[in-house]
Amino acid sequence: MSELDQTGAPSTSGEFAAQAGAPVYEREVDCAIIGGGPAGLSAAVCLSRMRRSVLVIDDRDGRSLWGQTNRNYLGFPDGIPAAEIRLQGRRQAARYGTKFLNGRVIAASHDGLFHLRVEGTLGDNRRETAGRVVNIRRDEELGSSLGEEKAIGPVGVAARTVILATGVRDNFPKFLGWAQCVGKSLFWCIACDGYESTGKVVAVLGHDEDAVETALDLLDFTDKVSIVAGRPEGFDVPEQRLADLRDNGIEAYPHAVAAYVNADGQIEALMLDDPAETRVPVEMVFVYRRPTPRTDIAVALGLKLNELGHIVVDLDQHTNVPGLYAAGDVTSPHDHQISAAVHEGNQAACAANYFLYRPVQRGSGKEEC
Ligand SMILES: Cc1cc2nc3c(=O)[nH]c(=O)nc-3n(C[C@H](O)[C@H](O)[C@H](O)COP(=O)(O)OP(=O)(O)OC[C@H]3O[C@@H](n4cnc5c(N)ncnc54)[C@H](O)[C@@H]3O)c2cc1C
Repeated sequence: MSELDQTGAPSTSGEFAAQAGAPVYEREVDCAIIGGGPAGLSAAVCLSRMRRSVLVIDDRDGRSLWGQTNRNYLGFPDGIPAAEIRLQGRRQAARYGTKFLNGRVIAASHDGLFHLRVEGTLGDNRRETAGRVVNIRRDEELGSSLGEEKAIGPVGVAARTVILATGVRDNFPKFLGWAQCVGKSLFWCIACDGYESTGKVVAVLGHDEDAVETALDLLDFTDKVSIVAGRPEGFDVPEQRLADLRDNGIEAYPHAVAAYVNADGQIEALMLDDPAETRVPVEMVFVYRRPTPRTDIAVALGLKLNELGHIVVDLDQHTNVPGLYAAGDVTSPHDHQISAAVHEGNQAACAANYFLYRPVQRGSGKEEC
């Protein structure tokens, strides 16, 4: 693995070189893809196969590094771990020439070219952010074998186009052992993992209408459903909705959780913060708290966000800035699925590729790969 730092790097012009006050390696690529999850890697495969120079920049802090197995992604009858899709996607993109840079894009600007500033993460993603350590390590090992570079000091990247595939941050409750539980006994999405709850003892954690709906929807899989508000203030829904829960056999606990009893990734019970110290046995917990889109760079580049903070794109993944595209979970509060991320990544790549064509190649002006 090569490591990029300021020493020995060629001095170039560029905003970040000036900001850092020291030489910064500024390379220029046809497309910089920020985020090496399913969306970013799908874009990389497509663009590299169009013979564009592509750099995927990733800080290994994404939800595709948790322990979940995807059983609804076409072509894998026995399911496939999300982290494995990343590994296969990297191998596939590398085969067509995609290059990889490990680091976090922390600033961006646009003056006809896009300028990105990338810095190392100093391993901070191992402490508390997204991903199981074992998956992060495997991702690193593969990156290393594929010639991935690592940002140590500030690294500048200049790109003719950029695809933002930065994903979201989940808001799972934090307790001792929580990271082991994500994707094993701690979930958030019925489309992903509802089927696996068939006949099981399930609790929904959440206080609002979305959580109540999730609890009622889970009845299609199991009749052993309870809901825990997860905060001392209780539920924030009309009395009628609490009655709906009762009428459908769902026990509703208006309490915070004092402890999550768990071992080896399996949550066995929720201990409630109530006078009776109620113990709610569980096999699966669905947390209903909206994830937070990772949009710092989108904001820095002047992108429009919707009311929930996701990047606004059209059907071809264009943003409001020419040459800048977005794909995957960061674009929508819904459709958080590998299939959607892969589709959007591919669409964004086609749009970026069209942007990169010379005018004579655009012909009729009908945008297509
Ligand atoms: C517990 C769980 C279970 C799930 N189960 C399923 C399922 O069964 N089926 C299904 O289809 N989907 C499932 N999903 C959802 C699926 O994982 C996501 O839809 C998918 O990972 C989205 O891909 P993405 O590329 O948009 O984002 P991510 O996979 O999150 O990748 C984004 C990448 O961008 C990187 N990044 C972000 N910002 C920066 C930056 N500034 N600089 C550098 N890198 C950056 C992150 O480190 C990350 O690697 C599940 C998710 C969870 C959490």
